[in-house]
Amino acid sequence: MTAHINEFRQRAKTSIADARLQGALEGATGHLRQARAESLADLPDVEALRDHFKEVRSATLARLAHHLETFERNALAAGAHVHWAGNAETACQIVIDIARQQGVTMATKSKSMATEEIRLNPALQAAGIQPVETDLGEWIVQLADEPPSHIVAPAFHMTRAQVAELFSKEAGKDLPPDDIPLLTSEARAILRQKFLASDMGISGGNIAVAETGSVVLVTNEGNGRMVTSLPKVHVAVVGIEKIAPTWDDAAVWLSLLGRSSTGQHLTAYTTAVTGPARPGDPDGPQEVHIVLLDNRRSHQLGTPYEEALQCIRCGACLNICPVYREVGGHAYGNPYSGPIGAVIAPLLFGLEAYEALPHASSLCVACLEVCPARIDLPRMLLQLRADEVDRRIIPWYERAAERGLAWAFTHPRLYDRGANAARFLGRPLFKDGHSAVPRKLNPAQQRRLPALAPRSFRQRWASGELEEER
Ligand code: SF4
Repeated sequence: MTAHINEFRQRAKTSIADARLQGALEGATGHLRQARAESLADLPDVEALRDHFKEVRSATLARLAHHLETFERNALAAGAHVHWAGNAETACQIVIDIARQQGVTMATKSKSMATEEIRLNPALQAAGIQPVETDLGEWIVQLADEPPSHIVAPAFHMTRAQVAELFSKEAGKDLPPDDIPLLTSEARAILRQKFLASDMGISGGNIAVAETGSVVLVTNEGNGRMVTSLPKVHVAVVGIEKIAPTWDDAAVWLSLLGRSSTGQHLTAYTTAVTGPARPGDPDGPQEVHIVLLDNRRSHQLGTPYEEALQCIRCGACLNICPVYREVGGHAYGNPYSGPIGAVIAPLLFGLEAYEALPHASSLCVACLEVCPARIDLPRMLLQLRADEVDRRIIPWYERAAERGLAWAFTHPRLYDRGANAARFLGRPLFKDGHSAVPRKLNPAQQRRLPALAPRSFRQRWASGELEEER
């Protein structure tokens, strides 16, 4: 998919008109926002911890090659195989080759944004290998043949009735939407059979710990453990930016990840995989393969976008974003949605194909306020808009408008005079404090724009009026 401006607008309009989706988005994001706030409030000095984490992530990226080499050395010493994938096609081919060598016809998968990014499922299917998602949300969207709509909660746009219908079809019997324990136990029974029948488990990796060559997975359903211990081969596809140099760094990461994503102090299951099963282990894979995925990540190093690589995919910026909360994840046209998606989708998949996304933000800065790694997404959104102007990606009139505004904002006296003139000349267009132009001429269409304030903020500030109000 792509996200050209008209495509994004059309998908956004469809989402906004969907009352069921609006209810689901507000309910789910509201719940996650509240859980995050309560859980972080339990930490003694959360702001200091976030500062420290920011320093850890930034220092790690500054020596990324060194940490990746350390990780590779230690993972090999633990008995794992390490593969380097420069792009999505190479990563998919590596997984397919491993599957073919092992005669695998079905692979169970744990939730992984990296495998969504490289479109591993269609590649496996084309190679005759059946991928089965085992995270409940991922399984639901797989059964519905839809992409995930949220980094953490892939199916939260769907209702119980829709889920019951999908499960009924899969189970071959009618399952009532109101009996949640029955629905989950049916899902568990079906997925257990898949775990037992699969020869390959595929996961992502939340963290790759360099000092021991371990891959850490966090899940809430225990499916990550099943995927990494029952099948004879485990393949982990991990973005190269997911490196933590030490377990101390990983501990900080984990304490912020659970709290920022679902409001848990730690997710229910935290699994560390360090090489294959050792002699005497009761279970575990005979082979562990780790695919280190670049896919244009290294292009961001040393650029104004390097900071985006500090993301830990917690989803907090999605839950707070007023745009995401209206349009949902599918409007973004790629697996990464919300403010982080609006930054990294153009970087990973091309600005020309996703030129609408840097504009899918009100620049309210809420995403920066909640991000555990303090990633300055608004700055990068503005930088991407500037790149669009420089690379002539947006139409000439929009480029002219952006340049005109930039000029006006950097000439305050002329800006003030222009604003005063607009205030005076615009009077006939407003009534009772709001626009009174015919609907067809209204740039905001359904909404009535508020009139300009009688006096500007700068005038009120200069007169001392605002000081008195304080
Ligand atoms: S940008 Fe920050 S808030 Fe958003 S998903 Fe990444 S780490 Fe979480």
